[in-house]
Amino acid sequence: MISVAIDGPSGAGKSSLAKRLAKELGYLYVDTGAMYRAIGLYALRAGADPQDAAAVLALLPGIRIELAYVGGAQRVFLNGEDVSEAIRTEAVGMAASGVSAHQGVRDFLLELQRRLARTHDLLMDGRDIGTVILPNATVKIFLTASAEARAARRLAQLLQKGQTADYDTVLADICRRDRQDTERAAAPLRQAPDAVLVDTSELDFEQSFQALKAIILARV
Ligand code: C5P
Repeated sequence: MISVAIDGPSGAGKSSLAKRLAKELGYLYVDTGAMYRAIGLYALRAGADPQDAAAVLALLPGIRIELAYVGGAQRVFLNGEDVSEAIRTEAVGMAASGVSAHQGVRDFLLELQRRLARTHDLLMDGRDIGTVILPNATVKIFLTASAEARAARRLAQLLQKGQTADYDTVLADICRRDRQDTERAAAPLRQAPDAVLVDTSELDFEQSFQALKAIILARV
C-alpha cells in the first residue's frame, strides 16, 4: 500500500491540498484532525474541559468515531451522527487541540488510523503521521507557512463560509494552537527527519499543489 504522510501546523493548507492530491492520484484522503475535532466536540457538548485529561479520558468509552466517503469526500461520524460540518468551528478546533494533548486520546485513534493505511493507498494529514502513526510511510511531507500567511488564509476561509472573524483573533488563535501542538509531551508537532519540508508562505494553491505532486510522484 502507498501512504503519503502530510504533517504541519494548522492553516498551512494541508487538507485542501491533500484532498486535491488524493483525487488526482486516486488515493483515499484521511483527515486525522477531523477525528480529534469530533472528540473535542463531544467534550464540549458534555461540558468537560478539553485540557482536563482525566475528564476527557473518562468520556472515551462513550465515543465511537467512524469515517465514511460520500462522493469521494470524507464524512466524520460521532456515535452515528454526521458531525462533518459541526466540527469546523474555531471553538471546536481549540477543543481538538486540547484533547489531542492527552496520550490516551491519541492511543484511542491510533489503531483506526493505522488500519486505514493497511487497507488503502492514502494521503493522511495531521501532526504526527510521519513521526508516530506511519513511520514507514512511502512519502513524508512537512507542510508549513508563516503564522501570518496561515492567518490570512484561514480568515478568508471563515468569511467565505459566512462565519464572523477578524484577522487579529485568527492570528492569535493560530499562534496559541501552534504552541499547544508543538510544546505538548504527547506526539508534539515536529518534522520527521526523513520528511521533505515545503513552506507555502510565498506559494499560491496551484504552486503548492504542483510542488507536492512532484515530490510524491518522484517517490512512488
Ligand atoms: O488539522 P486540524 O486543525 O483539523 O486539527 C485540529 C487539532 O487536532 C490540531 O490543532 C491538533 O492539536 C490536533 N491533531 C493532532 N494530531 C493529528 C491531527 C490533529 O494532534 N494527527
